[in-house]
Amino acid sequence: MSVEAFALVGGMVFDGNAFHEGPVSVVVRGGVIDEIGSTAPDGVRVVDLGEDACLLPGLIDTHVHLVFDAGVDPVKSVCEASEPELLESMRRAARRAVHAGVTTIRDLGDRDYLSLGLRDELAQDVVAGPEILPAGPPITTPGGHCFFLGGETAPDAESLISAVRERHSRGCSVIKVMASGGNMTPGSLPTEPQFGRELLKVVVDEAHRLGLPVAAHAHGVRSIDDAIAAGVDSIEHASFVGEQGSDPQQGLMEAMAARDVAVSATLGFDPVALAAMLEVMSPGQREQLEAVRAAQDAALQGLFKHGVKVSVGSDAGIAPLKPHDVLPHGLVEMARHGWSPGEVLTAATRDAAKLCGVEGRKGELVTGADADFLVVRGNPVADLERLLDVRAVLRMGHRVR
Ligand SMILES: [Zn+2]
Repeated sequence: MSVEAFALVGGMVFDGNAFHEGPVSVVVRGGVIDEIGSTAPDGVRVVDLGEDACLLPGLIDTHVHLVFDAGVDPVKSVCEASEPELLESMRRAARRAVHAGVTTIRDLGDRDYLSLGLRDELAQDVVAGPEILPAGPPITTPGGHCFFLGGETAPDAESLISAVRERHSRGCSVIKVMASGGNMTPGSLPTEPQFGRELLKVVVDEAHRLGLPVAAHAHGVRSIDDAIAAGVDSIEHASFVGEQGSDPQQGLMEAMAARDVAVSATLGFDPVALAAMLEVMSPGQREQLEAVRAAQDAALQGLFKHGVKVSVGSDAGIAPLKPHDVLPHGLVEMARHGWSPGEVLTAATRDAAKLCGVEGRKGELVTGADADFLVVRGNPVADLERLLDVRAVLRMGHRVR
């Protein structure tokens, strides 16, 4: 699928680390970045996107679910759909993501390992979706959070080791484990830990031995504590729910920073879906939503203060508020919690690539990196909402839009 070399030319660049104003030329050859300068070299075809165009690495969403259709009852849909139906819905989700400039996604929970087949399919048809870094079905306790995705595993060391090995041998990029209950599963409580720290450590040790990072779903403070102690690479959600409501424990945040445990913050709402939802909400429901948001604000401010590495994992797919192109809205939201727009962009590119184990290849505009680009109109460091004004998207040097 190689294309002839060309120079992508614009008036600004954010390279994953810093923003530069002034003409920029990025030469793409064979799907990778070959050369970066201020003017296009002679003899190379120029794709000039204009002086007001800013070139960025394609964005990385560190937590999505392609199998969830962002409908009103995604669990029912995923349980009832046939495999071909589910794959078709996942293809639509992937297309929607890449059109927003999300060129890499970490799929943290599918059904029947379907995201692996789709990953291989998209590797042959790069404009049809992002690069997928799949986890397969999340490892969960029998009847535990998201058990219906097929990852139920008995809570003993032997079973957990074989679950990790199976995912590794199938070609998963990350191990996802449910360290607490969640909101989508009846009978499962976000405050309640699953597995406990000793068994989580078994998962982490085996995954790390095989070279795979571990992403732990953890809402409750006890499960966050367990996941940090077990040595996971990222905590997903990190909502800091205590027995009596929000409990953003500063000590746990300090431990995260000290032990280099990252957080995938669950941010981003589709503004149209949000407005529609607010319209029909009762005052009580609104109050509940406000409480959830206030708790999240407190947690994020603490994470910022303690210097914890945070990326945005939108959890795209789990509700109408979260279609698969919602990530840029999550980035705009992150900037309201202390991070500067430049820091948010680094979180969504260079740092997210590191968390996902694809640093150097994704998330930075450097020689040798994959030619995945988001090109927007205007300066995103001055105004992050510029991310929504997409001028072009490229995947492996191929124009998506
Ligand atoms: Zn999720």
